[in-house]
Amino acid sequence: MSLQHLLSIADLEPGQLRALLDRAQELRPLALGGSTLRATLQGKTVCPLFFEASTRTRSSFMLAASRLGADVLPFDVANSSGKKGETAIDTMRTLEAMGVDCFVIRTAIDGELRALRDAAKPETRFINAGDGRSNHPTQGLLDMLTIRQHKGTDFSCLKVVIAGDILHSRVARSGLQALKILGCGEIRVCGPDSLMPDDGTLEGCKRVSRFDDAMAGADVVMMLRLQRERMEQGLVGSLESYFADYGLDTRRVALAAPDAIIMHPGPMNRGVEIADDVADGQQSVIFEQVSNGVAVRMAVLQAVFAA
Ligand code: ASP
Repeated sequence: MSLQHLLSIADLEPGQLRALLDRAQELRPLALGGSTLRATLQGKTVCPLFFEASTRTRSSFMLAASRLGADVLPFDVANSSGKKGETAIDTMRTLEAMGVDCFVIRTAIDGELRALRDAAKPETRFINAGDGRSNHPTQGLLDMLTIRQHKGTDFSCLKVVIAGDILHSRVARSGLQALKILGCGEIRVCGPDSLMPDDGTLEGCKRVSRFDDAMAGADVVMMLRLQRERMEQGLVGSLESYFADYGLDTRRVALAAPDAIIMHPGPMNRGVEIADDVADGQQSVIFEQVSNGVAVRMAVLQAVFAA
């Protein structure tokens, strides 16, 4: 399995997507320690270049790269010459000139990632760690891996709910692309009208207005963070009314299938889109998603260096 870049789930063939998930599943025991794969990327340099904040994605990419034996350049954008006005492209080319082989990039600007890739040497690899509201492919992969671990590889019988701020969510976009490729039986989307995209993202999904109805019999519930940093004023009313209409509490969890899993990409707004006792409850797989992130990112790094 090889690919030079991973910019979007939509760029993957179904076979490549499945192969990445299979590889991540194999790597799962090594991902959380005791990796025997340190020779894999020896002599390679990986640089996380994050123009937006991150806890999970940046740390797990750094762990994944070091578990595979790469040198990791932990570049700190916030204290860089970006502050003096250096452009993202000049920053990337500067680091590339020091021998970085692979950039793991997060940017707030949709489309910036492809511009960076186009400005780089042809052999430099790029992995998308979240761009604007467009794509978060490794989150999509780790979400699919988590679903497979609980529900098996046949998604055709699954009812998956994606709820909340879909408009601003790159997690939802990458998740939807992956669910469609994997042949998910039914994808229900639910959230305020003001937070539903009308750009074709929801094609093939069932739009359900009442969250209770969306939850009925669901097998998988993917909650999304209300992304207030990307929001214009007035898209949602009070946080209390948002929770009343679209918050996941134990009463709503009881409407889903008894073995339904509850997912959230983090960071969570507890009490806004998800109640504490659901986030920390028996059906929550939120921290399994985090652990799967390391394995998925190892699989992706291996794939880009195999190209
Ligand atoms: N951490 C995810 C992202 O970077 C989800 C979120 O921020 O809501 O897109």
